[in-house]
Amino acid sequence: MGLTATSTGRRAADSGLVIQRESPDDRVIALAGNPNVGKSTVFNALTGLNQHTGNWPGKTVSNAQGRCVHKERGYILVDIPGTYSLLAHSAEEEVARDFLCFGGPDAVIVVCDATCLERNLNLVLQTLEITSRVVVCVNLMDEAEKKHIRLDLKRLERHLGVPVVGASARSSRGLSDMMDRAAALIAEEEVSSPAAVRYAPPIEEALALLEPVVRERTGGRINARWAALRLLDADDSLIASLSRFLGFDAAADSTLRAAVEQARERVAREIPPGELTDAIVSGVVRRAEEICLDSVFTDDIRYSLRDRKIDHVLTSKRTGIPLMLLLLAGILWLTITGANYPSQLLSGLLFRVQDGLTALFHWLGAPEWLHGALVLGVYRVLAWVVSVMLPPMAIFFPLFTLLEDLGYLPRVAFNLDRYFQRARACGKQALTMCMGFGCNAAGIVGCRIIDSPRERLIAILTNSFVPCNGRFPAMIAIITMFFVGTQPGLLPSAASALLLTGIILLGILATLLVSRLLSGTLLKGVPSSFTLELPPYRRPQIGRVIVRSILDRTLFVLGRAAAVAAPAGLIIWIMANITVGGSSLLSLCAGFLDPFGRLLGMDGVILMAFILGFPANEIVIPIIIMAYMATGTITDMSNLNELRSLLEANGWTWLTAACTMLFSLLHWPCSTTCLTIHKETGSVKWTALSFLLPTAAGMACCLLLASAARLLGLV
Ligand code: GDP
Repeated sequence: MGLTATSTGRRAADSGLVIQRESPDDRVIALAGNPNVGKSTVFNALTGLNQHTGNWPGKTVSNAQGRCVHKERGYILVDIPGTYSLLAHSAEEEVARDFLCFGGPDAVIVVCDATCLERNLNLVLQTLEITSRVVVCVNLMDEAEKKHIRLDLKRLERHLGVPVVGASARSSRGLSDMMDRAAALIAEEEVSSPAAVRYAPPIEEALALLEPVVRERTGGRINARWAALRLLDADDSLIASLSRFLGFDAAADSTLRAAVEQARERVAREIPPGELTDAIVSGVVRRAEEICLDSVFTDDIRYSLRDRKIDHVLTSKRTGIPLMLLLLAGILWLTITGANYPSQLLSGLLFRVQDGLTALFHWLGAPEWLHGALVLGVYRVLAWVVSVMLPPMAIFFPLFTLLEDLGYLPRVAFNLDRYFQRARACGKQALTMCMGFGCNAAGIVGCRIIDSPRERLIAILTNSFVPCNGRFPAMIAIITMFFVGTQPGLLPSAASALLLTGIILLGILATLLVSRLLSGTLLKGVPSSFTLELPPYRRPQIGRVIVRSILDRTLFVLGRAAAVAAPAGLIIWIMANITVGGSSLLSLCAGFLDPFGRLLGMDGVILMAFILGFPANEIVIPIIIMAYMATGTITDMSNLNELRSLLEANGWTWLTAACTMLFSLLHWPCSTTCLTIHKETGSVKWTALSFLLPTAAGMACCLLLASAARLLGLV
């Protein structure tokens, strides 16, 4: 696909990305930067949009865009994936490079982390090789100040030859100044003159041979020195992009090929081909070092020492994992105890509304079937979903987001790294697994942070082995009813939290086992090495975290569940009330599934609820209750004691409860997750496998548990 002009704008490098200009005068600014430097924070502050921010590397995985108006002029900001370099070693680096090279931005803002500028300058220097219209935004100046790092931005500007602005994006400090400088650059009121990186003499001589030929052959449509450098370094992905975006087939151009050969021969006299890439990279690294030596000064190293001390405890072999489990159990405990009271309050309120609705229907003289379908069907399931799901989510999501903002998630990945390595998978999979706790679909999109396609597939296929937030409330309810009792108190709630932690551990264990199985069979290979970066701890903005996690995550997930619950409630009510040959559709279907369900320690109704819960796991329990209620009644669905009696009256034992929980942990991913898997892998085969793997695992576990319990006479 090339760069095609459309009426709305220009198709840019990220194959699907069309720049959405609101006015033809809008200018395009690309936002580049290493991962986790505050790029999304800059983007959100300027555009008022809500790109996901969090303190771990690799969140921005595709180009996002938003518009901002600065001094009456419109700008489209394109947030490109965070990368350490533009050498196109990974999908993100390729997307970033292609947008900078071929997307035609009017300017590029490279966001840097003031607390580790040297590493960030590598990307700045590489960007300057592609385009001179660059503004460097040195973000996190507040952090640098706290760490007693002083930066001489004027000197930095002189060294780089482009505008440099200091900023603290979180408090919007410096952003207006940054936009001023970018605007001046675009309007050509300010002229930049970046100093090129000087490479070792043989490389420079080879470039002198190759650069004029590249300039002539590409008609000046790309920076010739940079393209020459990449061709010299045998960058095949650039050759592919040249043909894709410029329609220029570099591989078929004999003049260019001959020049590249000649240039490579020139270099090879002094630098063996295997060492050329390193020589080029070290040219950039050395220049970044020189610049920093002259413009960054550290007065005190105490502050990074503090981080290191904390890490010593949180990531050590002895204490890392126990502390992690303790933290998880603590969060679950807070969720369980905190949710109890508001849950009861909400359900009391919602069921009073139900009584009101019933009275209203009767007063209006509405037919009984209408009251049944709308109030007993749609409303009742909705009321359950809201009262049982909202409180735990409103507690769990903010707590999880706080940990994310603090910088704890990469430490989890660090702790679990060796286990994932042993399973021949990638340590970063631990991060995507953590995201799966919130929502499996989000976890699957997050798998883009894993560079190796083999390891990314493993992470995608196993993501739904950790229970998403939609599955927690049901598990909590079952644990409370059947394993720890409903009386309030510290002990029962602590026991519930521990049991839930155990179930999550089981999910993690299954993730590791299945990852190992996949890397020994379908997805053979050795784990790639990667350096997991531990970002500095940052104090989270508590207020913002709470508001964002409730608005973005809680209400989103709840909205989705409610949208599914309403029609599901209707279907169930209809199925329970349409009779064929004397029995309802519901009991016919459940009866059909019953023998199979019983084999797995459950029954036909439970299996059917899981099937009908395919659009959203949250509705499994309400469906089970609705189905049982077709034959019995309870007055208050959220009273767990009454609920337990209803379930027991329908044959539930501890084994049914355990198998239902096991199956809730291990069964097919929900429909949104399946769609996301298909989108990410582009393959029906892998989507089907990600459906079958957890399902087979769940069936096997339930069958084993049920058979063992029956053999031992435990039920
Ligand atoms: P990205 O990966 O570059 O998009 O980074 P994010 O925008 O997600 O930011 C990473 C982390 O840095 C988040 O926890 C932000 O809240 C935090 N952050 C961003 N800008 C600043 C800043 O100016 N000061 C401080 N102290 N933290 C910041």
